[in-house]
Amino acid sequence: MGPRTHAARFLCCRLFEGRQRGVDGVRIKTLLSRLCGLGREVVIESWILWDRRARSCLEVAVRHRARRRSRCGRCGVIAPLYDRGGGLRRWRHVDIGFGTCELVGAAPRVDCPEHGPTVAEVVWARHGSWFSRAFEDLVVHDAIVGNKAAAADRYGISWRAVNNMCVRVAQEALGRVDLLDGLVAVAIDEVKYRRGTAT
Ligand SMILES: [Zn+2]
Repeated sequence: MGPRTHAARFLCCRLFEGRQRGVDGVRIKTLLSRLCGLGREVVIESWILWDRRARSCLEVAVRHRARRRSRCGRCGVIAPLYDRGGGLRRWRHVDIGFGTCELVGAAPRVDCPEHGPTVAEVVWARHGSWFSRAFEDLVVHDAIVGNKAAAADRYGISWRAVNNMCVRVAQEALGRVDLLDGLVAVAIDEVKYRRGTAT
């Protein structure tokens, strides 16, 4: 048996082994979870690969672990479930290889003491977004190191979508930072002010 035949047999064994391990779905779900970067809080229920247009799309159905309590999507406070909301929702996720990836999951509403009926928080996406948290982080990073138009073109989304992502990421970051922490005095930069008004 020559080296090429041996290599072919070895490859076949590896592929078969992969299929065998995937029969019960456990290892494939683990693989998908790693590739999608979903973390331990998220359970993959199922997946399906679609051939859409020129690119394949991996659709992954996700949910939170059962022990996780429902929280308000706006403030994060634990709140009782209100209703099923708009049913299943879809979030565009980070591309996997040459294919796109979408997360699909329920988006029920909770009854927040402050905000009333509001879509519940999901760990994989920011409130009010059609994109996953990881995808937004990636696009915003590209928009910062380059520009919003280039980021929009690269990911096939609108400039407005990129801008909205930047706003959400900035709001989240500002929510974690007290801008007045350590402030001793407030002064107006007169030079900067004049320069700004002159242009
Ligand atoms: Zn709330």
